Amino acid sequence: MNILTDLPIAPEESVGLQCPKCSTYVKREEWDEVGKFAYEGITCLSCGEVYDPPAAKISIVSPSHHLTDITQAVNETWYHATISDSWAEDTLEAGLPESNLLVHLGLKETALARINDLFMGAARDFYLYEVKLSPEVTLHPSILNDDNNWSKYSDDHKMPIDFNVTPAVRYVNRWETPGYISLLADRTKLTVINHSRQTNQTNLS
Ligand SMILES: [Zn+2]
Repeated sequence: MNILTDLPIAPEESVGLQCPKCSTYVKREEWDEVGKFAYEGITCLSCGEVYDPPAAKISIVSPSHHLTDITQAVNETWYHATISDSWAEDTLEAGLPESNLLVHLGLKETALARINDLFMGAARDFYLYEVKLSPEVTLHPSILNDDNNWSKYSDDHKMPIDFNVTPAVRYVNRWETPGYISLLADRTKLTVINHSRQTNQTNLS
């Protein structure tokens, strides 16, 4: 992850992914067509370039969204969607990388879009966790760019921030819901306030 010192702002009608060749933004209305579930490549409808999703330049849409405000982000209710009904317990298990077990959280729309992506649009069951940060948690002031691959729960050691000092940081996902932002947080600093079994809705865009 790199720190986004200059967070690019995408047009409202886009999904925030920019072709690495011609810099054209993917439009929301094009998303299903060019690669909503594209793990192999997104096709640029402007120049024809086929690029890996991680190669896309990432921007944030709707900069006015309140989560760019750190105080609001601390107080937000965050979500994690998973196929595991024991995610909350699994992520606290002993034996996992000692200091920080980092978990990825988003707003509800982002979590639902993420599970829809994992299921490739199929109507399957999953668990939606609702999570709050512990009141004493200090968020890192930066916003990071998710520009590498993530393992299921934990992260590598190349993080530019110290989670012992700031146990959570905001970041822009590769597939961020327009106007939204995600959170990477130390699991031990989170409280799960609710979780429920749900079925993926196949008509998300
Ligand atoms: Zn292009």
